[in-house]
Amino acid sequence: MSARLLEGRAIAEAIRTKLKAQIGSVASSIVRPPKLVAVQIGEDASSAVYLRSQTKTAEALGIGYELRTLPETIAQPEADLLVEALNNDPTVDAVILQLPVPKQIDAKRLIGLIMPQKDAEGMHPSNIGRIVLGTWTIAPCTASACMALIETSGVDLYGKEAVVVGHSEIVGKPLAMMLLNAFATTTVCHIATGERGLLAEHVKRAEVLVSAVGKPGLIKGAWVKEGAVVIDVGINKVGDRIVGDVEFDEAARRASCITPVPGGVGPVTVTMLMKNVVEAWKEKR
Ligand code: NAD
Repeated sequence: MSARLLEGRAIAEAIRTKLKAQIGSVASSIVRPPKLVAVQIGEDASSAVYLRSQTKTAEALGIGYELRTLPETIAQPEADLLVEALNNDPTVDAVILQLPVPKQIDAKRLIGLIMPQKDAEGMHPSNIGRIVLGTWTIAPCTASACMALIETSGVDLYGKEAVVVGHSEIVGKPLAMMLLNAFATTTVCHIATGERGLLAEHVKRAEVLVSAVGKPGLIKGAWVKEGAVVIDVGINKVGDRIVGDVEFDEAARRASCITPVPGGVGPVTVTMLMKNVVEAWKEKR
């Protein structure tokens, strides 16, 4: 392997040190530290790992963290009421809705009800809109994590060919806007690109490549351009291993920098969630 590994844990630690300093410089006996409330509806086992890492990270940073669990069978109006109460609670700086939610609940509606200033995940339409305008302070955590990793690689995005594979609302779309904002020439590939057999052609051009699909081995190592920066967002269980979307060994021989899976994007994502909480808290000062 010749690529430099972009180790998420170390990068997350550096961001956390800065966040701690920001909290420490403002929080005092008069100004309370930031507080995040997580809303979970029902108990979905798949969110347990993310919840644990939220609790741990918040604690390490001195951010207050409270989990509010609503019953699996709750109706939309009651869930709406909780979000409205949290919006009106001056002791709460930020709110996150844990996904997935039970099928009677409209998650998009609930996320839209969280006031934009308290939107820990950066998924409120106003915050998404601010990414298009290039004026964001709070942004979707995984997209921000990818940008932080790209920044750590040292690549100057100006005029570079950036290819994002995956166009989800939480990763691909906001990330593409952030890359455009940094003047990268940005291509977004998705399922239809793959179905037309054009994925390899686009990926081969990428000087910065991000894959956020969730299909192991989708991105062949041989497609990776020499010297490219490769960010693998994918999390796939293969047997008892967790792997990304990119064929790691071959890609690492060709890339200049690459994220491991696990240990790349994941640890930075939860830190970016806390960065959003700190931004929300600072905006109230
Ligand atoms: P999603 O299912 O919402 O979107 C998948 C995207 O991949 C879509 O845009 C789809 O069009 C595209 N796609 C599917 N098949 C394709 C193909 N053959 N060729 C090209 N594009 C194709 O997924 P998501 O929520 O954005 O998550 C993507 C992956 O990232 C998953 O593995 C998820 O677990 C992982 N993820 C990781 C983190 C993290 O912090 N590390 C955070 C969020 C998501």
